Amino acid sequence: MVFIIRKMSDPSADTQQLIGERIRQIRERIAQAEQQAGRAPGSVRLMAVTKTVSPDRVNMALAEGVDLLGENRVQEFLGKNLSYQCEKSQIHFIGHLQTNKIRDIINRVSCIQSIDSLHLAKAVSSAAEKAGLVMPCLLEVNIGREESKSGFAPEGVLDAAGEIAAMPGISLHGLMTVAPAAAGQTGDDSCFRDMQQLFLRLEQLSLPNARIDTLSMGMTGDFEMAIRCGSTLVRVGQGIFGARNVQTGLPQH
Ligand SMILES: *Cc1c(COP(=O)(O)O)cnc(C)c1O
Repeated sequence: MVFIIRKMSDPSADTQQLIGERIRQIRERIAQAEQQAGRAPGSVRLMAVTKTVSPDRVNMALAEGVDLLGENRVQEFLGKNLSYQCEKSQIHFIGHLQTNKIRDIINRVSCIQSIDSLHLAKAVSSAAEKAGLVMPCLLEVNIGREESKSGFAPEGVLDAAGEIAAMPGISLHGLMTVAPAAAGQTGDDSCFRDMQQLFLRLEQLSLPNARIDTLSMGMTGDFEMAIRCGSTLVRVGQGIFGARNVQTGLPQH
């Protein structure tokens, strides 16, 4: 009884419980989508996307066993990452990366998912070499050919992959995309199908030095569809932490 009263009057315990509940539901939905697609249980990894989310709420997700965080913005990440209790977790960078910010993150992330140009790839490779490491990377594909989004054009990404896989500071692991927002609403999975084909062709290239094992696609609104199309890693923000305020970028609850 005492326990219940304490929980009801402690907002941070409520938030912890809410975030835990959302994570359990998303894991459940991932498992169902894997099963429906005839894929092995556990073949899809869950990333918690932390943009606009305070470090204490990120730590609540980590306490629920989330082992992968996604960071979009270098400045925001640098301001938060020392507060993360993430000894057992990995952090991937997933946002647009300017070359002059690479050195700020190169030692703090275990993968850059958002390589969107040869120019950026070269800069990451040389920064990684200087830091004495090889950075796992994904190539971002602008699969919906949207002007507002960065990424390789679908018809150019496989040639780029050949060049990038040969760069000494990069270990190429696969592809990433942010599908057009409408996909989740209309159920049109053509962009995810196109990504699946590209990923298959990338695997078939058997590029030396590459280890193609990751197709990062699917977010809160469309991750089940992405899993049916072969995604191996889904990036979920609002589904775990609640809606973001579009105008301010701040979380609403
Ligand atoms: C914000 C973001 C996500 C998560 O989007 P939600 O709709 O909050 O799940 C995933 N990937 C990238 C690259 C993002 O910027």
